[in-house]
Amino acid sequence: MVFNFSKSNLPKQLFINNEYVASKNSKKLELYNPKDNSLVANDIDLAGAEDVDAAIAAAEKAFPAWKKLSAKARRDIMYKFAALIEEHEVALAELSRITLGAPYGSFGKFETLLCAEAFRYNAGWIDKFAGESFPQEDGFLKIVRNEPLGVTAGIVPWNGPLGTAGLKAAPALATGNCFILKPSEKTPFASLALGPLIIEAGFPPGVFQVLSGDGVTGSLISSHMRIRKVSFTGSIATGKRIQEAAAKSNLKRVTLELGGKSPAVVFDDADLQNAITWTANALTANTGQVCFAATRVYVQEGIYDKFVEGYKKALLEKAKTIGDPDAESTVMGPLIDKAQFDRVTGFIERGKSGQGTLLTGGSRVGDTGFFIQPTVFTDVEAEAEIITEEIFGPVSVLNSFKTEEEILEKSNNTNFGLMAGVFTQDINKALRVASEFDSGMVGINCVSLMMLSTPFGGTKESGLGRECGRAALRAFTDQKTIMINM
Ligand code: NAD
Repeated sequence: MVFNFSKSNLPKQLFINNEYVASKNSKKLELYNPKDNSLVANDIDLAGAEDVDAAIAAAEKAFPAWKKLSAKARRDIMYKFAALIEEHEVALAELSRITLGAPYGSFGKFETLLCAEAFRYNAGWIDKFAGESFPQEDGFLKIVRNEPLGVTAGIVPWNGPLGTAGLKAAPALATGNCFILKPSEKTPFASLALGPLIIEAGFPPGVFQVLSGDGVTGSLISSHMRIRKVSFTGSIATGKRIQEAAAKSNLKRVTLELGGKSPAVVFDDADLQNAITWTANALTANTGQVCFAATRVYVQEGIYDKFVEGYKKALLEKAKTIGDPDAESTVMGPLIDKAQFDRVTGFIERGKSGQGTLLTGGSRVGDTGFFIQPTVFTDVEAEAEIITEEIFGPVSVLNSFKTEEEILEKSNNTNFGLMAGVFTQDINKALRVASEFDSGMVGINCVSLMMLSTPFGGTKESGLGRECGRAALRAFTDQKTIMINM
């Protein structure tokens, strides 16, 4: 099967058992380009119950042989798949951009290559993800093995279509599971286009499948009795539904990567320019549609005025780069669609009417497409919705603080707990604050970043379980204890 997908030849069918097949579901998906709201396609397949069952049957058939495949053979397939993604990254990024609107240079390339890197990273673990053996005791030798679960699935959001898919698919496949990818209904094309690369890399039929679909497809997966694990990234509300469906069906394992409202805390002794650069980049990457974006910025009194001036200037510079996501010079593209645009502008308008003082931004850019200025409110009250809720757009709140104690209380006063950042040149203070943040990840003199080698995820309502690193492999395996009577 040759890879020949492009914006004029979009993949629209389900990829089951190493073939493109039409959905048995008569409902179709309709999508628009966020740069001008023009129709992209209205005939994209949505997987229904019969399609989900067909993919599961194929995966169940493939599982015994895939599980037993030698580490080297599985690793070679995964390395080849990574190389194929890299070979086709420009086309794949375009297939995401056409409905996401993320410019290639500032986000599309990164998130596409993240998928390739995730495959390479996890392939390297295959022959190193060892179990345990215990000293002989009372005549028994005990061995603990990491065993794959069987048929697993990944349900992913739209803001990083291939990156989030790779973080789930790669550890699932590396540990010997079969994997069904359900991309977001807003960004299905890059995932559906993986078909020829899956075949060329050498994945046997049924091992790695892609089912485009919406929340109904997602709920068919999360409530299915024959799926053993769902790894989900998306909103808190959907995450809770998935956990409930898992509990009510077969108690499938669940990993949840959910929302955030990450604080960045800048102390008087911080490197001011470094703090401004990180926080401004964190707010504008992917037009603020990033779960760990630093959207609550707290600056100590002594440098507050200088920070305000520098942060505003940096964001005004970013605003100059707003434009057509297909143009090379564009850094900030549009928000993904009208629904997201209405949501974000709703928060901004309500923010303007009394929740804080508008420092910069606050308006739409152009009159077609869903472009929005980076927007900052200062002096925001603790209970205002722009400080308590995830907006998922380039909107932040900027407040001053006096003491370390006060800022820890404010930073942790939220149901979210994904990421936090602390900026200071005092390493003792940095480590003290880092250990007190109620969040899954902390940056010191940096914020809003991830690494493939270390656990990624949140505490409190920001998630359950971890992706990346060894944690991701654990999340796709169960431990089996073997007791040998010597
Ligand atoms: P969403 O929850 O609306 O949808 C995510 C996925 O879940 C989609 O594929 C959707 O089709 C599917 N889905 C919807 N209803 C379902 C149901 N009842 N059962 C099963 N699946 C269902 O989220 P979104 O709008 O696509 O993404 C934005 C959210 O994702 C934000 O809250 C953001 O913070 C979060 N996010 C988190 C991370 C992270 O790693 N923590 C990363 C990116 C995005």
